[in-house]
Amino acid sequence: MSAEKRTQGRVIVLSGPSGAGKTTLHDLLLKAPEFRRSIVRSISATTRAARGKEKHGREYLFFSKKMFEHKIRSGQFLEWANVFGNYYGTPLKNVRDILRSGKNVLLCIDVQGGQEVKKKIPQALLIFVKTPSLKELQERLIRRGTDAKESVALRLKTAAKELTKAKHYQHVLVNDTLTRAYGELEAILKKELPSLSRR
Ligand code: ADP
Ligand code: 5GP
Repeated sequence: MSAEKRTQGRVIVLSGPSGAGKTTLHDLLLKAPEFRRSIVRSISATTRAARGKEKHGREYLFFSKKMFEHKIRSGQFLEWANVFGNYYGTPLKNVRDILRSGKNVLLCIDVQGGQEVKKKIPQALLIFVKTPSLKELQERLIRRGTDAKESVALRLKTAAKELTKAKHYQHVLVNDTLTRAYGELEAILKKELPSLSRR
């Protein structure tokens, strides 16, 4: 073939209960030399307040409820959901731009959002992350220290429901030890994204 055909990237979704380890795995992935240039993170929008050193445009796009609802109405999200009382959503334009550049886009979103992406983009790669048990999830949420007691209880209750959706994902990744789980994630991506080995 004389002209090289530009391949369109793929949408990769990491979802699962709060505290399962999505952010931890996502951060490792984006730092890894073999993925750094080929996988780009989607920056979500949210109506929750920024925590600590979080900056608009870096961790999230922090919008008012009014602005977020306007963007829902004008179709600016690939998916959006109400998660623990706040809106969260994936801006569509950003995802399109990344895919058009030939890169893969990584979405770290809740289970409702994962289901929505599956409906809209059947060829997306969906990975469900979970802990070995709910007891372990509870311990990790407590150790993380970002949620009050009631918030941990709500997350656990929600997690029990979310776990029933794991069967709709192509891969279920048990985040037991971080090294093993990350190794499995790496293997899934290398198998599912053959374009990685050509870079
Ligand atoms: P999520 O993004 O899914 O809400 P986090 O990545 O914040 O979850 O992980 C929840 C907590 O568990 C964090 O404190 C993180 O450091 C810790 N953690 C993540 N993976 C492991 C693991 N394999 N073993 C023990 N602790 C872990
Ligand atoms: P946090 O407020 O702790 O950063 O995130 C709370 C939850 O919202 C996490 O489960 C996270 O994965 C989810 N989340 C973050 N961004 C999005 C998004 O764009 N869409 C959806 N549906 N969930 C999101």
